[in-house]
Amino acid sequence: QQPSLCLRSLGISPSLSFLASLSLCGLTRSSSFLVTQTLNILPSFGFLFDIDGVLVRGKTPIPAAKTAFQKLVNSQGQFLVPVVFVTNAGNCLRQKKADQLSHLLGVPVSKQVMMSHSPLRMFKRYHEKCVLVSGQGPLLDIARDLGFCQPITIETLREKHPLLDVVDHDRRPNVLVSIYFCFKILSVVLFGEPVRWETNLQLIIDVLLTSGYPGNPYHRENYPHIPVLACNMDLMWVAEAQSPRFGHGTFMVCLENIYKKITGKDLKYEVLMGKPSKLTYQYAEYLIRAQAAERQWKQPIQTLYAVGDNLMTDVYGANLYNRYLEENSRKDNSWENELASAAAAHCRSVLVCTGVYNPHAEVPLDTRESITETVFHGHRDFRFDPGLVEPDHIVPDVDAAVDLVFQLENFAPN
Ligand SMILES: [Mg+2]
Repeated sequence: QQPSLCLRSLGISPSLSFLASLSLCGLTRSSSFLVTQTLNILPSFGFLFDIDGVLVRGKTPIPAAKTAFQKLVNSQGQFLVPVVFVTNAGNCLRQKKADQLSHLLGVPVSKQVMMSHSPLRMFKRYHEKCVLVSGQGPLLDIARDLGFCQPITIETLREKHPLLDVVDHDRRPNVLVSIYFCFKILSVVLFGEPVRWETNLQLIIDVLLTSGYPGNPYHRENYPHIPVLACNMDLMWVAEAQSPRFGHGTFMVCLENIYKKITGKDLKYEVLMGKPSKLTYQYAEYLIRAQAAERQWKQPIQTLYAVGDNLMTDVYGANLYNRYLEENSRKDNSWENELASAAAAHCRSVLVCTGVYNPHAEVPLDTRESITETVFHGHRDFRFDPGLVEPDHIVPDVDAAVDLVFQLENFAPN
């Protein structure tokens, strides 16, 4: 029994600050509730590590990260436990992120990294067709790396249809001719926030309202619109500034509202990826299983431990996935079939205090009430559930998280 569940069974709803103080005083389940069992030398669990606020802050590594990862690899640099790094970032190639982590943590990282767009690999039915990609960074490289054969950027579309992008007077065409462009765009992938929002908003709306022929006039009957696949719903993120900055979620709010205002209908997503979406956790579990299989660890992976610093993404997402696993309600979607072998029993949320979450900040006694009263920054398609933002465990940092999990699992690798 973990502390929060014990308290809940007594009819007491523990506040986060209370739980934090319990953990920070060392009164976690590991020290006060653990019953010693046989030690396990092979893992039946895996780790999902968030990156920002857990392993790094901005570009600075968090010291506990290096200590933690020394415990997670053997003398040959092989992981002793299946590990996936799950980030909502999406504006760079996975390999680049992996190289950064290898350098930072002093352990070899490659296939363990999962970007917000990584599950798009499973969406093979979109790979052969012309897809419009929105975001910034090496978008075409990212799209091709994921398997898309015909990605086209907003910038290319703008060049092919020079009459469409006219908000910026200085970028309006001098000669009013439209270049013939015969490709039909069959889907739109939103990778991340673009630089010129007005251009992307205009051209994506054009594509949706013309069923993929943005040079044509709008047609009301183009609904449901062509599929839109979106990565990273984070409304805002914390950078060096004192207040949070616009994230891709803010761009999506703009797009959704413009579409609704013009058509009176809801913009629909074929899929939403990135924490806290279920698909992201399913894909992470799939990667965990692949690692365990590769290492020929025979016993099934029973528990996933999601270590993160953000209540609204890492904790909410892990708890949402845990609810899904425990309800075992698998729908018969084609992409879910590909992930169907994934079947952990639990996904536990572990909150660290090195990032967004601050245990020393003033937290009102009744957290549920205070969170319900604040504005919900999650995506439109996610219902806010106060029960999903309570972490299973709170620890000071990622090193303490690894120690805690090893104790919970009675794990003692050779
Ligand atoms: Mg984070």
